[in-house]
Amino acid sequence: MPRLLTSIIPMATVIPLTDVRGAASAGARDAFLREAACMPAAEGSPLPLDARGRALHDLRISVTDRCNFRCVYCMPKDVYGRDFPFLPHAEILTFEEITRVANIFVGLGVQKIRLTGGEPLLRRRLERLVEMLASLGHIDLTLTTNGALLAKKARALRDAGLARVTVSLDALDDRTFRAMNDVDFPVARVLEGIDAAQAAGLAPLKINAVVKRGRNEHAIVPLARHFRGSGHIVRFIEYMDVGHTNGWRMDHVVPAREIVAMIDREFPLAPVDANYAGEVAQRWRYRDGGGEIGVIASVTQAFCRDCTRARLSTDGKLYTCLFADSGYDLRALLREPYSDAQIGNAVAAIWRRRADRYSEIRTAATPRESRVEMSYIGG
Ligand code: SAM
Ligand code: SF4
Ligand code: SF4
Repeated sequence: MPRLLTSIIPMATVIPLTDVRGAASAGARDAFLREAACMPAAEGSPLPLDARGRALHDLRISVTDRCNFRCVYCMPKDVYGRDFPFLPHAEILTFEEITRVANIFVGLGVQKIRLTGGEPLLRRRLERLVEMLASLGHIDLTLTTNGALLAKKARALRDAGLARVTVSLDALDDRTFRAMNDVDFPVARVLEGIDAAQAAGLAPLKINAVVKRGRNEHAIVPLARHFRGSGHIVRFIEYMDVGHTNGWRMDHVVPAREIVAMIDREFPLAPVDANYAGEVAQRWRYRDGGGEIGVIASVTQAFCRDCTRARLSTDGKLYTCLFADSGYDLRALLREPYSDAQIGNAVAAIWRRRADRYSEIRTAATPRESRVEMSYIGG
């Protein structure tokens, strides 16, 4: 029997990067993709269900693998240094290619698109991409950002058709925040970005805070206190074993129930029903009417059963799970003479055979297996 992670022996702090970004273009996956593209569309509903009966509702698109932060849990400085080989420009999907793929996914049932990265606001003229995606119609178009450039960009993004924004913010005290982003970025600038987003009409905002034991659990209650009554929803995220570089250990995870208990002691909470099936955050409201918070218990209470998310990496590979070791090279099809219908057939076929449920079967051995980094696949 595999041992559960709660009992594993701590691993070394930083695990060297295994570059698995190219793995998807080779071999069986590529052959499957091309074969599926050329098959007639499957009979019945054009909206595919995966092998566990899950629909395809959400698409996360990583628009860049670069970032101006070096968050300790995501892009540790000693791995993502000056010499790190980020993707060259020619390998990155163009706005036209992204929009074309997005349109194909919308035809397969996607209702929600989130732009992410790396840091999406580093991609030049991102508002142009927002405009192109918004013109597809009938999609909930959102973006996750570290907020560093948000004060400058919020209005243009809103005018281009962005509906809402999620800002990552792991602490309010400047010392802890600078240590978490590890590039000495001041928290005041992110707070300015949040205000600008609100003023531009990108509200209500979600504020994502990853909690890492020993680093920022003391920031939980101050974050809750600060945003209580603001209309913004803080979501506390359990630190996950994504990728290989962050040196994840189970004893770095602060379980969601502990986070809720800490806040509940100061501001009594009551559970709230999910807005929709598949919502990743568990919702809690302040009993005195001060708004709500969310907790994302991806480690201690897995939610794979309702996972309707696909991810498109910066270079156009389709991943059906955040913890996958390789993806399907859609860029190859986009840059060859395949029609939208053919690419749609291929995506549907990939989705139909999807059986991912990594978080439900996480064991002591799994964190060591190869898989892609979050900054590349998109958080
Ligand atoms: N750079 C943008 C940002 O930080 O908001 C977007 C990309 S980032 C990869 C997306 C989200 O993933 C952020 O909210 C970040 O805090 C979260 N994240 C990154 N690494 C994580 C980890 N190891 N465990 C849990 N969440 C993580
Ligand atoms: Fe950059 Fe976001 Fe990762 Fe932090 S979490 S390093 S801001 S991509
Ligand atoms: Fe979805 Fe994979 Fe996360 Fe499970 S582990 S919720 S299947 S992304």
